[in-house]
Amino acid sequence: MTYHFKCTLCEEEYEAGQVRYVCPKHGDEGILDTILDYKQIAATTSPRTICDSRDYSIWRYSDLLPLVNPSGSAPPLHVGWTPLYHAAEAGRQLGLDNLYIKDDGRNPTASFKDRASALVVATARELRVDVITTASTGNAGAALAGLAAAAHMSTVIFVPETAPQAKIAQLLIFGSRVLLVKGNYDQAFDLCLAASKEFGWYCRNTAYNPFTVEGKKTASFEMCEQLSHAQPIGGKGRDRCFRAPDRIFVSVGDGNIISGLWKGLRDLAALGWIDKMPMLMGIQAEGSAACYNAWKAGTEKITPVSATTIADSISADMPRDGVRAVRAARETNGAYLTVGDDEILAAIRDLARSEAVFAEPAAAAAYAGLVKAVRQGFVKSDETVVCLITGSGLKDIKSAMQVAGEGTRIEPTLEAVRKLKFK
Ligand SMILES: *Cc1c(COP(=O)(O)O)cnc(C)c1O
Ligand SMILES: [Zn+2]
Repeated sequence: MTYHFKCTLCEEEYEAGQVRYVCPKHGDEGILDTILDYKQIAATTSPRTICDSRDYSIWRYSDLLPLVNPSGSAPPLHVGWTPLYHAAEAGRQLGLDNLYIKDDGRNPTASFKDRASALVVATARELRVDVITTASTGNAGAALAGLAAAAHMSTVIFVPETAPQAKIAQLLIFGSRVLLVKGNYDQAFDLCLAASKEFGWYCRNTAYNPFTVEGKKTASFEMCEQLSHAQPIGGKGRDRCFRAPDRIFVSVGDGNIISGLWKGLRDLAALGWIDKMPMLMGIQAEGSAACYNAWKAGTEKITPVSATTIADSISADMPRDGVRAVRAARETNGAYLTVGDDEILAAIRDLARSEAVFAEPAAAAAYAGLVKAVRQGFVKSDETVVCLITGSGLKDIKSAMQVAGEGTRIEPTLEAVRKLKFK
C-alpha cells in the first residue's frame, strides 16, 4: 500500500523510507501522520470485499495498512476482531438504548496494545531489523513481547519497576530482555529512545513510531463493521457495511489510542465508507490529565503534569501523542472528562456485574467517564454509543480486589453452608 508521512506540527510531507520515526524539524515531538493513497485503495478494494473476508483479525484491513507484503510479514498471533457487545443491562442502568462495549481485553496479550505491536512487528520484519525495543507502562511491552515471540524476534523492554506483576510476568515469560527502570513511564520512554539511537534497535515507542496509530486504527474499522451487523443498514445504504456510532468513549494516557481511532474514522470518511464522524470522548484520570487540561484551556500546548493514578496504563506526565489527542476530541465535536480513582474502581465492579466484562483500571476509566457524561447530560438516550474496554482485569487483580468484596471462609460441611444467608 502506497503512503507518505505528514508532520502533525508543521505539515511537512515526507516519502515513505525518507524518515523512520518523527519529523526531523522538531526533535522527538514531530509526530507523523501516515497518509494513504485513497485512490489506490478505492481501486483495489471495497467495503463489500472487506465484509466478505473470512479473515477475522486486523489483517482483514490489510489494504488500508502501510505494509508492503502483509501476508508475508504479519505475525501469526490472532489480533483484533474482538467482540462488540450490545450492553443491554448497563444501557438500562444508564438510560441508553444503544450502548455497545468493545472488549479489547480479548486480544492475545489481553490488551488493545496488541493492535499496534502486531503492525510494528510486521514492519520490523519488512525492514529486516534484529531487535525491537519499547518503553511501556506494561501493556505495550507485553504486546510487543508476545507478538515478537510469535515472530521469533528479540525485544528489549523498558518498564517502570512499579508495573503490575502480571504485566512483568508477561514480559518475562515471552523471553524479552526486561529492564525494570527505577523511575516512571516518562523516564523509561526517554531512556528507551536514547538506547534505541545508541544501539540501532527498532523503536516501537508509542506515537514516536508512526505505525502504532496505524495499528490502533483497526479498532475503528471493526467497530463500524460490527455495528453494521448489529444495526443493519437497509435500503440504499445496504452495501455500506460500515456504520459509524454517534459517540465513542476511550481512556487516554499518551493519547495514541484516541488518535488511532480518529485516524481510522478519517480513513473511512475519506473513502466515503461512513457518512458521519463520531464524537470522540477522551477520558483521563484526575491525577493524569494533561490532555484534558489542554482541551479545557482551548490550546494545543500540552503542559506536563506529575501523574498519579491507580490506572497505571494511563499514567503519563507528558502524553506523547497529546496534540493529536486533543485535536481528536475537538475536531469531532467530542470532549474530555476526568474521573477519580474511586470512580474507576467502582466502574470495574459495575461493568463486571452488568456486562460480565472484567476491565483493568485504565480500561474501566472509559466506562467511568461514560457514567459521568450521562449524569452530566452529555449523552442523549437514543445515541449509539461505543465504550472501548482496552485491557483485561486479570492484568491487575490487586486493584480489582479493592472492590470485589470478600469470600466467606467456611468449614467443609453442609452444616456450615446452611448457617449462611443467601439472597
Ligand atoms: C495504553 C492504554 C491506554 C491508553 O492509551 P494511550 O494511547 O496511552 O492514550 C488505555 N487503556 C489501557 C488498558 C492501555 O494499556
Ligand atoms: Zn514538522
